[in-house]
Amino acid sequence: MNVDDDPLQADPRWRRLIERPFDCPCCGEQHCGVFDLACGKPEQWAGSEEKASNSQAARSQHFLSEDFCVLDGEHFFVRCVLEIPIVGSGGAHFGYGVWSTLSDKNFRIYRDTFDSGEQGDLGPWFGWFSNRLKGYDDTLNLKCQVHPRAERQRPWIELEPTDHPLAVEQRRGMTLDRLLEIYALNGHDIRQALMDS
Ligand SMILES: [Zn+2]
Repeated sequence: MNVDDDPLQADPRWRRLIERPFDCPCCGEQHCGVFDLACGKPEQWAGSEEKASNSQAARSQHFLSEDFCVLDGEHFFVRCVLEIPIVGSGGAHFGYGVWSTLSDKNFRIYRDTFDSGEQGDLGPWFGWFSNRLKGYDDTLNLKCQVHPRAERQRPWIELEPTDHPLAVEQRRGMTLDRLLEIYALNGHDIRQALMDS
């Protein structure tokens, strides 16, 4: 790989991050490489994050599971991934597990095809981004497109190309410093650990 594509190779923090596992001084877990963050539920779900089974989606009007959420039989959410490229990394990206609304109709199509794994030809579908992410101006209800994928991969989110900082980051990427800041805001401040170890 050309160093011009991958200038982060010259940053010792990046090499430390990706080359071997390290113990997180904040959460106590071992992290390895660029790790994802995840929201356990849509912002609008006020109940506990305890998950029902996905199969409950066929019959329940009010539940939260790993991949679906229905609120009062009226609001329909699916678990997605927001991917943000890391500037200078030669193609690495950071993944944020987030939720989006779908219309009743699209939610039913998504739910009914979920077990088949054959969802790559579905969508994209309009949705409202349904989480507030730390470190950004309010992200709740940003407009987005939900892109279902094949083989049980969670749908990816494409934010409407506005000037919102999160949408800008999805288009242009985030720096390593920004990634480390986002980790720190979410309980994984590894900045010192990457310098020391
Ligand atoms: Zn951690």
